[in-house]
Amino acid sequence: MKNEPGLTDNFDRRIDYLRISLTDRCNLRCRYCLPKEGVKQVAHDKVLRYEEIVELAGLFYRQGVRKWRLTGGEPLIKPNLAFLIKQLKALGDDVRLALTTNALLLEPLLDDLVGSGISRINISLDTLKPDRYRYLSRGGDFNSVWRGVTSALGQKIEPVRLNVIIFKNYNEDEILDFARLAVEYPLWVRFIEYMPLGDQDFYARFGGVSGHDVKKIIKSELKLSPALVQENAPAVYYRPDSSAGLIGFINPLSHAFCQTCNRLRLSSVGRLRPCLFSDREFDLKTPLRIKNMAEVENLIDKAVKSKPAGYSISKSRQHTMSAIGG
Ligand code: SAM
Repeated sequence: MKNEPGLTDNFDRRIDYLRISLTDRCNLRCRYCLPKEGVKQVAHDKVLRYEEIVELAGLFYRQGVRKWRLTGGEPLIKPNLAFLIKQLKALGDDVRLALTTNALLLEPLLDDLVGSGISRINISLDTLKPDRYRYLSRGGDFNSVWRGVTSALGQKIEPVRLNVIIFKNYNEDEILDFARLAVEYPLWVRFIEYMPLGDQDFYARFGGVSGHDVKKIIKSELKLSPALVQENAPAVYYRPDSSAGLIGFINPLSHAFCQTCNRLRLSSVGRLRPCLFSDREFDLKTPLRIKNMAEVENLIDKAVKSKPAGYSISKSRQHTMSAIGG
């Protein structure tokens, strides 16, 4: 690894993006994501400490990683998150830090998070109806989330992205409401296809909707023009006429996007996952804790080299998104 200019996998994909799950725990229990009782508690000492995350991030930085996304579980339940963000930001001027959150706790923390170095925020929100939200998330308060969204829009950061999953007999009737948000606000509203991973009761009950069908419904009301967005992300974007924002589609089921995959995922217990859809993981924490950094580097190298060319969702049902942060 040391002789190479950066991390490049066996298919010539340059790996420069690391998603870090800070915790498996979440302050919501979205029905399609988590069981009612939440995830099994992981002993505190098994979870990577901030200084360990920073040490690993430094290694990745030296190998050319420039973008980090903090996710979970719910990253905002971690105490003193701004401290971690400052440390990551201090790795270099070219570090880009993003956050994926349900935004329930976002508003009061926002200034501190952005002031510490977060420059991109993705907010997960699947319904605009408070009652529905409370049901879907098993108790979440829509108004707190919406305050998080509007406060984020007031920050001088990259466009705020809203991640939305549509279920056929649940929130399909809100597709146009979400699309209109992109007309009214400078939001990037992204429709993400549900991936059948983990517990699928909700999905079985309400059914999924393909990105293609979501787009058809939006086009019944809005004229969509392709928007050229330079970001190494699986979303394909469109601009509705005279809109402030964009509408994006992430279609993992109907459109594989592995050819441009540039990312690795680090779990809260320090396991490095080369591919969202593969259960293969590499334990970085054990060598990290005995300061065997050569072995950590060796495992990172192995993980990169084991990134598959593509995936098969049907073979990867062992994990839930709450453990790997989407
Ligand atoms: N708590 C944070 C949040 O809500 O954004 C981060 C973790 S959450 C697991 C990340 C994203 O994964 C959310 O947008 C959620 O909707 C999405 N997600 C969970 N299960 C999914 C599935 N089976 N298919 C597609 N997306 C899923």
